[in-house]
Amino acid sequence: MKDRQEQWPKVLPEVRMGDRAYVIDLRLGEFRRADDPSIRVVFDSVDGQIRSDHANVQTCQACGVSVIVPGGLTDDELRCVRCFSRLT
Ligand SMILES: [Zn+2]
Repeated sequence: MKDRQEQWPKVLPEVRMGDRAYVIDLRLGEFRRADDPSIRVVFDSVDGQIRSDHANVQTCQACGVSVIVPGGLTDDELRCVRCFSRLT
């Protein structure tokens, strides 16, 4: 049995916004600049919402968990991985 820590991915996904790359940290709910991790944009901010839309990040309104939604899924098929609420 793996412990909980090992279930998180070792490599975080990245998204490009303009000429900059941001690491997407779903656990902390923030984007971090790839070239300067001290610069963070939380999902729950105006800039964070713009980046979330760009990166297909959806945050559950019921429990706050964030996921990256693969393209091609329609909104009414999306449910939270933790609490199973609809994401829209
Ligand atoms: Zn949820």
